[in-house]
Amino acid sequence: MLTELTDEKLLGVVNSRKPSTAEGRLVNKYPVLVKPSKYKICMECNNREVIDIAGPFCSVCSRKKVINTLPEEEKIKHFMTVIPRRYINASLSDLPKAIMDSLTMELDTGVLLWGPAGVGKTYAMSAIARHFMAEGYDVNRIHYETLCLQLRDTFNKQATQTEWTIIEPLLNCDILVIEDVGTSKSVGIQESDFSLRTFLLLLDIRLEHCRPTYITSNKSVENLAKSFDERIGDRLRTFLVIRMEGKSKRNELQ
Ligand SMILES: [Zn+2]
Repeated sequence: MLTELTDEKLLGVVNSRKPSTAEGRLVNKYPVLVKPSKYKICMECNNREVIDIAGPFCSVCSRKKVINTLPEEEKIKHFMTVIPRRYINASLSDLPKAIMDSLTMELDTGVLLWGPAGVGKTYAMSAIARHFMAEGYDVNRIHYETLCLQLRDTFNKQATQTEWTIIEPLLNCDILVIEDVGTSKSVGIQESDFSLRTFLLLLDIRLEHCRPTYITSNKSVENLAKSFDERIGDRLRTFLVIRMEGKSKRNELQ
């Protein structure tokens, strides 16, 4: 029982479980254990740590306040920095209720949404990205193959970006959406060592900091584990796995 624990014991629990940076955490499972005087908790959500430039608010609550003051046109422009134009009006309410409920669950690992092409995985991810952006979260979205191409391009002598400048925002954002992981290869064909290291780094750092990652693929966890390796399988088994099926939505959405 929490009430039977002394302050010293509570702080011991907090210190052993506190992520190295609380800013940007989606879920704080132990809000009652955090001492406001020590951690300076946001007065809006009473959950995340404050950031200096936001007064008494965390980065998420302060961003949400700004977004709420924007005219509709500016809000859409903000969403379009992450969400593809075709899916800019994607809404969670258009999804099957079971999928909507699963996607909006509080998670500190992530979601693997998998199923055949054209059933609406990108639509669902656009809807969840828009939902989190409207709530003030720092959301980033990448197509996995594009990321690998961008990273490989940094080996080019004329490259203007480094691997770090590409990968750093993806490690640190509150919510990361990675589209079409492992879809360019058939089951049974191995991803390259480079692709494996990139994916493993993204998953490991984000899991360590309790930053949720939302992934789409046309492969199951088992088949992704075969295409990459068992370490990827181990990480993805901590995710909420959702199988999406049904008739192609692509024609409806165009
Ligand atoms: Zn807050």
